[in-house]
Amino acid sequence: MKKYRVLIMTSLLLSPFIYSLCQNAKTSDVKASKEDSAMKYAVEKSDAEWKKELTQEQYHVLREKGTERPFTGIYDEFFQKGTYYCAACGQALFNSDTKFEAGCGWPSFYAPLLEHNVNIKIDKSYGMTREEVLCTHCGSHLGHVFNDGPPPTGLRYCINSAALKLVPDK
Ligand SMILES: [Zn+2]
Repeated sequence: MKKYRVLIMTSLLLSPFIYSLCQNAKTSDVKASKEDSAMKYAVEKSDAEWKKELTQEQYHVLREKGTERPFTGIYDEFFQKGTYYCAACGQALFNSDTKFEAGCGWPSFYAPLLEHNVNIKIDKSYGMTREEVLCTHCGSHLGHVFNDGPPPTGLRYCINSAALKLVPDK
């Protein structure tokens, strides 16, 4: 039991590293916006409000910039047709047409639904320089973007399942 717990802790600690090392990921060439902590969002809530509305995992990913463990999210290896919305505010973010199998354990897209629905910010946490993907409507953390994706963009938006909510096509 103790061994099992150590294993979980280790994989939790390592997940940001696996996340970026997967497929020899390099930081993408997407133009990153300047870090702006004073940025205003259309949807702004207190931590207490977010905590009440989101599950523990959603809160950790979206509001605390967490990363779910690889190969555990509901939308990894999931290819139902539909639109993916922000799990925090409901803004449309990605379409299943741009989703591809990256094999790295997180849902991956080569483009957002609309460029202005996601914001890119330089993230220097864990001693790495990565480009963080944020929802422009509520400022929630979604994942990171790397430049090892397929054509036509060459980008891989590596997004946490917990940050998304799929509405299937009719
Ligand atoms: Zn949002």
